[in-house]
Amino acid sequence: MRVPIIAGNWKMNKTLGQAVEFVNQIKDQLPPTTERSVVLAAQPMFLADMVRAAKGSPLKIMAENCYYHDFGAYTGETSPLALDDMGVHHVLLGHSERRRIFKEDDDLINKKVLAALRNGLHPLVCCDETMGRQVTRHKVHWVVNRLLVDLRGVKPADMARVTIGYEPSWAIGSGHSADPFQAEDGCYLIRNTIADMFDDEIAKNIRILYGGSVSIDNIKVLMKKRDIDGCLIGGHSLDPDSFLELVNS
Ligand code: PEP
Repeated sequence: MRVPIIAGNWKMNKTLGQAVEFVNQIKDQLPPTTERSVVLAAQPMFLADMVRAAKGSPLKIMAENCYYHDFGAYTGETSPLALDDMGVHHVLLGHSERRRIFKEDDDLINKKVLAALRNGLHPLVCCDETMGRQVTRHKVHWVVNRLLVDLRGVKPADMARVTIGYEPSWAIGSGHSADPFQAEDGCYLIRNTIADMFDDEIAKNIRILYGGSVSIDNIKVLMKKRDIDGCLIGGHSLDPDSFLELVNS
């Protein structure tokens, strides 16, 4: 059985004090890990304190990015080796904002995915989709091509640590979620692509999240879809009460 994941992505928001206070506020109110995985992504300078605050609770902490070398002369980058050493569990890779604003391409994301896995991290690989609301052949090619490159060279045994996020770009931060059928459509396409790239067992076990304007008004119907195993939540993860409501919904 695939345990659902609710992952918050704070992006470049909050101060250190607010981040730690948030963790302290929610950590004793989370469901057990057998029922739900709860993950929070934050800026790199908050991560060590958040890991410390979350210790002993079901909450896992996620970096919003990392580089593909473990150490060296890469000013301003975040080492996957250091993240793992710090107790960070997940790393978000290929978020549509990284692709659009920072011009990250699939080859770079693929290197980061391999580096994250090599260092024991659990990458949440985002597959954005900009094709609009219809299922078109173009959309199929877009999603399939992204995955073919992003997951190139990943060992089948490592796929147990990979999660995929399906995020239509037009739905991120817009207040307009994909309708549940469109969201299921994208996640189903991803699961089929994973089956073609790896095998049916890996495709059956991998968790695929939908992201894009998830809120308390749409999470239940999204989560009922067969291929949606959880949600990646930006705006509505910033407030502890609203995040808890989403986690427990
Ligand atoms: C995101 O940042 O991945 C996201 C889905 O944001 P929002 O929930 O605000 O649309």
